[in-house]
Amino acid sequence: MNEERKMFKGNWKCVGCGTTISELPFEPRDTSNLMCRDCHRTKNPRRDDSQRREKRMFEGKWNCADCGGEITQLPFEPRDTSNLKCRNCFRNN
Ligand SMILES: [Zn+2]
Ligand SMILES: [Zn+2]
Repeated sequence: MNEERKMFKGNWKCVGCGTTISELPFEPRDTSNLMCRDCHRTKNPRRDDSQRREKRMFEGKWNCADCGGEITQLPFEPRDTSNLKCRNCFRNN
């Protein structure tokens, strides 16, 4: 299975809160822009971070195979629309 990720040890400073960072899951090339785990999670200054957070939704008009309810949004593009489930039925399943 997955091997434990190698951690890089060092002595860096978080640009967000100034705390010392002693371990990183990657080798930093640019140490002037490092963030600790907490700041990385709470702050969102980078473009690609905010894009990752917003999940793309597909709009359409489908019907739930279980309850027949209307589905207007899905987090994925359905290939087989005959077996779709609304959020409630999906959760109950
Ligand atoms: Zn920080
Ligand atoms: Zn349903």
